[in-house]
Amino acid sequence: MDIFDRDYFKKKKNPKAGAHKYTECCDQDPDTKILNKNNKEDLEQIENHCEKHLLDYSEVETIQPICCKVCGRLIEYNITLNEKTWK
Ligand SMILES: [Zn+2]
Repeated sequence: MDIFDRDYFKKKKNPKAGAHKYTECCDQDPDTKILNKNNKEDLEQIENHCEKHLLDYSEVETIQPICCKVCGRLIEYNITLNEKTWK
């Protein structure tokens, strides 16, 4: 037998509700609006963010958006700093 909990019966009543709390590929909440590189407008926003970051912080050398390889959701920005950081 399975273990029963409240979620089990919630799902039983309404299979769609709360079936996937987080995406399996990158563990993100599907209900939260997250930028997605597969979306042209989102991609532009990601680029703009990178540009702004480079302009605002002179110690930032490069910035690379890390997206989920499966669904394209933006997970984080990988930032490298230049030598100014340690001066
Ligand atoms: Zn994903």
